[in-house]
Amino acid sequence: MAQIIVAGAGQAGASLVAKLRTLGFDGQITLIGEESVPPYQRPPLSKAYLMGDMEMDRLLLRPERFYRENDIDLRLGQPVTALDAAARTVTVGEDILPYDQLALTTGSHPRRLPAAIGGHLKGVHVVRTLADVDDMAENFRPDRRALIVGGGYIGLEAAAVAAKCGVQVTLVEMADRILQRVAAPETSAYFRDLHGGRGVQILEGVGLERLTGDDRVTGAKLSDGQALDLDFVIVGVGIAPATQLAEMAGVALDNGIATDEYGRTSDPAIWAAGDCASFPYKGARIRLESVQNAIDQAETVAANMLGAQKPYVPCPWFWSDQYETKLQIAGLNTGYDRIVTRPGEKPGATSFWYFRGDELLAVDAMNDPRAFMIGKRLVEAGKSPPADVLTDPAADLKALLK
Ligand code: FAD
Repeated sequence: MAQIIVAGAGQAGASLVAKLRTLGFDGQITLIGEESVPPYQRPPLSKAYLMGDMEMDRLLLRPERFYRENDIDLRLGQPVTALDAAARTVTVGEDILPYDQLALTTGSHPRRLPAAIGGHLKGVHVVRTLADVDDMAENFRPDRRALIVGGGYIGLEAAAVAAKCGVQVTLVEMADRILQRVAAPETSAYFRDLHGGRGVQILEGVGLERLTGDDRVTGAKLSDGQALDLDFVIVGVGIAPATQLAEMAGVALDNGIATDEYGRTSDPAIWAAGDCASFPYKGARIRLESVQNAIDQAETVAANMLGAQKPYVPCPWFWSDQYETKLQIAGLNTGYDRIVTRPGEKPGATSFWYFRGDELLAVDAMNDPRAFMIGKRLVEAGKSPPADVLTDPAADLKALLK
């Protein structure tokens, strides 16, 4: 019987095994995850779950019985520790499991602060797993002072939850502005104002020099000379793709595990999807860190493992929740040279449209689901509206789709 092993039981791994069964694969499927919980959604970890507004059960992508009912051997709580590409085997605990085809859906690791600047101290947290969040939850109460290192989406979402819980929050961002790597100055300014209005102190162009404390973090020295007294720290300085198994297999790496447009690595029996995988897109090689990418890429890989020969074409979209603001992003803004702002109908609603020349690349919509939905459809259809239509709040955006 054909044997497929999927290493990494997160969003991509769960989507991949489910799709294999939907497509009629009746061989053996083994899904291996190092975390002890069945595959779950990560976005609520820095949003509703961190706030205490969501039960753990609701994080699960599917109930555990789904895997039993679909004859998927779900092995949790132990990582794949070795991969022998020549013998086509993986090692989990004491077991050496053979495969005909293997998918790597190992996700990514959060970057941590070096021990030399206090990254090892107790009270210094990252936000990647359920265990990480459970570990920090007790700090989210009014008598606490937090430093958030990094002004990307995860840092800002954690700052929003902490501020809502009454924590006194300082956020440092080494770059000139928050969200610099991922968004336009307009979007940065929107979120700077939003957080400022909630009492979060955002320091841009300021780095962390070091954390202080003996065993537990008690303070921080910043690059502008300030010293802070602290109770805990959240580090949100990005992630690195989990490539260890791919390295063992000797497959090509390039900003993650390099795949072709079908999701296949340089070893024909090994595939990759999700945060860990890079793929060709519009003449470049990209790697996306989003739920949509993990699902769509994994489902395409499942089809291709069964012989579909279907190229993966991403339709990127992403969201972030901060206080009462929902940001929705469609498209990829890389290479934009101008921003067009469209005022929304309701207070606090607005959208920023990224163009390169006359070509629409992406949209950031704040509390404006209609602008997001239409922007997404325009980007996917390769249509670019004239700027004067976008800036006119009375203009019917829907007409642009015709
Ligand atoms: P993961 O979901 O991380 O799964 C990988 C799994 O593989 C992990 O469980 C890991 O333990 C396991 N693994 C790794 N190595 C091994 C091994 N050797 N053996 C066995 N198992 C292994 N995206 C959005 O689109 N919108 C959002 O609002 C959003 N918010 C987010 C908030 C947070 C706090 C985080 C952490 C992420 C957020 N993301 C968001 C990103 C999104 O969750 C990821 O892009 C997505 O989970 C990627 O799926 P994945 O399967 O590639 O990786």
